[in-house]
Amino acid sequence: MAGLAAARRLWRDGVDFLLLEAGDRVGGRVATDEAGGFLLDRGFQVVNTAYPRLTALVDLDALNMGWFRSGVLVRHGGRLERYAHPLRDPRGVPRMLESALGGLGTLADRVRLAAIIARYAAVPPARLLDEPETTAAEVMSGLSSAMLDGLVRPYLSGVFGDPRLTTSSHALAMIVRSFVHGRLGLPRTGVGAMPAALAAPLPPERIRLHTPVERLPGTTAHTPGGTVRARAVLVATDPVTAARLLPELPAPAMHALTTVYHSAPEPPVEEPTLVLDADGSGGVRIANTIVVSNAVPGYAPHGRHLIATTVAAPDADPAAVRTELARVYGTATEEWEHLTTVRIPHALPDASPPLGRLRRPVALGDGRYVAGDHRDSPSVQGALTSGWRAAGAIVTP
Ligand SMILES: Cc1cc2nc3c(=O)[nH]c(=O)nc-3n(C[C@H](O)[C@H](O)[C@H](O)COP(=O)(O)OP(=O)(O)OC[C@H]3O[C@@H](n4cnc5c(N)ncnc54)[C@H](O)[C@@H]3O)c2cc1C
Repeated sequence: MAGLAAARRLWRDGVDFLLLEAGDRVGGRVATDEAGGFLLDRGFQVVNTAYPRLTALVDLDALNMGWFRSGVLVRHGGRLERYAHPLRDPRGVPRMLESALGGLGTLADRVRLAAIIARYAAVPPARLLDEPETTAAEVMSGLSSAMLDGLVRPYLSGVFGDPRLTTSSHALAMIVRSFVHGRLGLPRTGVGAMPAALAAPLPPERIRLHTPVERLPGTTAHTPGGTVRARAVLVATDPVTAARLLPELPAPAMHALTTVYHSAPEPPVEEPTLVLDADGSGGVRIANTIVVSNAVPGYAPHGRHLIATTVAAPDADPAAVRTELARVYGTATEEWEHLTTVRIPHALPDASPPLGRLRRPVALGDGRYVAGDHRDSPSVQGALTSGWRAAGAIVTP
């Protein structure tokens, strides 16, 4: 996404470019595979309409989006409780407060959490980034352990791959803000439609697939097919490869995510809402689970339903996940079919402090530039913004 955003800006500004892509398609971590009539994204992920760089570059309406319901359902005390989004689902809020006594955590928890979210939503980004930087764990430290472990930790571990909540409060603020202001959904033909749309306006002859850059002395790219010399090079690879190609960068720590895909003859819930598990103890800890085909029916063939379950770990035993899902959804899962398990050991760069204002340098000197989610926030928006910034630095050094 970072490389494509950069290419779009260079193209717009009339600067010739050549995009060298190691894989068989553009999009990197944002990809969709098709198998047996199912659309299987490379790990459950969402498109967020509150990412300004995304909506500036891609017409989301043209992607025929299906939308998730805002808020979450939480399996707690043997039932599913709704935690509504106060702006988008105001009718759900009174019920949420009513159930406070029997519900997860305390009423004070709900007020505290709502206050954190409301502040992030209301305060302008520049001011949030002026605030002292701490960790997500520190921000949430006033919550009871029931609320922290039942709702906040699973939710954020699915977003940052970071169950320890060491992520920077600045990254947390920006992501929470985008979740409050944005709608979350997926394109009809899978999340891979997003990078495809980003690449569509670019001249195809300036994109070379199956072309891994092996070495990068100065501004010369060595690939198995030969060398490419350029006035400037921008490394917009994943963070681990970036640190290999650009030894001046430190090796990044990465977080893992695993998504287990099941198909079911009947959907375990009727609505397209993220489900969290506050009752789980021991065994596999589910970060979130969702019936993707409730939002986007085309993700499953007729008569089947697609359930995506994410664990913030490099692996998860699908059988153990299915056992947990029977409890989480309160339904029998014997007739469910395990479709595939997508393991992404390097899903997201660690975003512990200090990240500062989420604008790490992109110009490294001597015609070398870097972009990617490790330069801004660990998200599609972070990747796109960094690529846009890096191309700007190339155009106007
Ligand atoms: C399972 C999962 C779920 C996610 N969910 C969300 C979400 O809901 N919302 C969100 O905002 N973000 C989400 N993210 C994060 C988001 O996908 C990434 O932050 C973003 O896509 C990173 O883009 P990038 O361009 O920085 O890097 P990448 O996507 O890693 O792209 C790097 C590109 O460089 C290519 N490359 C690598 N090595 C070489 C080489 N040597 N030569 C040439 N090319 C090379 C790769 O093939 C790839 O195309 C999720 C990530 C994962 C894995």
